[in-house]
Amino acid sequence: MKKSLLGLSYEEIEKVVLDLKQQKFRAKQIFEFVYAGYQIDEMTSLSKELREKLAETYISNPVKILKKLVSKDKTTKFLYELQDGNIIEGVLMNYKYGNTICVSTQVGCRMGCKFCASGLNGLLRNLEASEILGQVLAVNRELGGTMSERKICNIVLMGSGEPLDNYEQVTKFLKLVNEKYCLNISERNISLSTCGLPEKIKKLADDGFSVTLTISLHASNDETRKKIMPIANSFCLKEIIDSAKYYFKKTGRRVVFEYAMIKGENDSFECAQELKQILKGFPTHINLIPLNTVAERGLVGTEKKQVYAFQKKLESLGMSATVRRTMGEDIEGACGQLRNKFLNGNNV
Ligand code: SAH
Repeated sequence: MKKSLLGLSYEEIEKVVLDLKQQKFRAKQIFEFVYAGYQIDEMTSLSKELREKLAETYISNPVKILKKLVSKDKTTKFLYELQDGNIIEGVLMNYKYGNTICVSTQVGCRMGCKFCASGLNGLLRNLEASEILGQVLAVNRELGGTMSERKICNIVLMGSGEPLDNYEQVTKFLKLVNEKYCLNISERNISLSTCGLPEKIKKLADDGFSVTLTISLHASNDETRKKIMPIANSFCLKEIIDSAKYYFKKTGRRVVFEYAMIKGENDSFECAQELKQILKGFPTHINLIPLNTVAERGLVGTEKKQVYAFQKKLESLGMSATVRRTMGEDIEGACGQLRNKFLNGNNV
């Protein structure tokens, strides 16, 4: 694979330019092209010779948009192709306050959650920081954004993959996003969703990050969680919640718990009571997600009426809970669904 220019600092691009025996001022041009999301062959104010020289060793953005599907509600699903031919996916959501992009952090996933399509074929490989960033810049450009005028204001690491299972590259990405020249998006506008790896959650806080932490809880007791999330065999709910408390204490950021509602598995009022017990005294928010049915998985989502009744129950117990709006259902919006359809040879 070629090295990405994306992810390099100004000084590093200057070094690339000097190594190619070019004049120093070319660095500024290249730098701006790179962070506007251009590919090398599109950098037409550079000589053809320089573009060819650059392209021998480098690629600008390692992520290419392969397909784009727009849903009735304007949610857009993207399929991207990487240099090695691997396919990943992402979603762009249009909210009142601006565009939010959902990015993938791995090709596939090794967590094996029973309701999720991302892990159906296991983990293929981790994404590089430049490949996570490349998704954001490719879409920013697609929307007509430039380096100074960004069209994306929020990032959620909720696509395929377990971000904390790719800690090094994900934190490298978080640092890059923060840079003025890169996206200049503050950590307040970034959410990281994890299935709950306690040591990594604590490390994230210790390393000085303060993104919004979102934990995929999906169960109110260990027994149920083990049935739907294999990772529950390694870490119990108490360990996960303790690490969330640690994160809250260190960062002051309220932790969000995600709870996908699965018919007959985790949607009884008894479960609501249990949630109250395990989260007692911890200021948090619960995001209820009506499960998107994944045909291969055989689990069914709780009916809307019961989802709202569950929310009311949590509120009556003094907890903060909302039902997440489902978006893009008609375009295989849930994790890994579109990629699987594509890899199985279906037309998307
Ligand atoms: N691995 C991370 C991030 C990726 S999944 C995590 O576990 O949080 C992003 C969110 O979508 C998670 O809360 C995940 O549990 C949820 N999800 C996956 N498949 C889903 C489905 N079919 N319906 C609803 N939510 C789903």
